[in-house]
Amino acid sequence: MAMCKDVVENIIGYIEAELDDKTLEELERHAGECPECQAFVRTYRRMLELCGKLRERTFVTPQIRRRLKDFLKSQTRSK
Ligand SMILES: [Zn+2]
Repeated sequence: MAMCKDVVENIIGYIEAELDDKTLEELERHAGECPECQAFVRTYRRMLELCGKLRERTFVTPQIRRRLKDFLKSQTRSK
């Protein structure tokens, strides 16, 4: 069963649909029911689009990854 942290960990693969079918399906099922993850995926995708770097995964540095995790955490906390 996928959890928020699984979506965060696999966000690039999720957005680019490069995960194996089973993982992708689990993440989608979770994200479909989780407002926090929906917001997270939306924000992440939008950020990548804004930067025009959707195909450049080197763009996602560990710092950005950490910031996104903090973002997700703050979203969850504010609930
Ligand atoms: Zn979630």
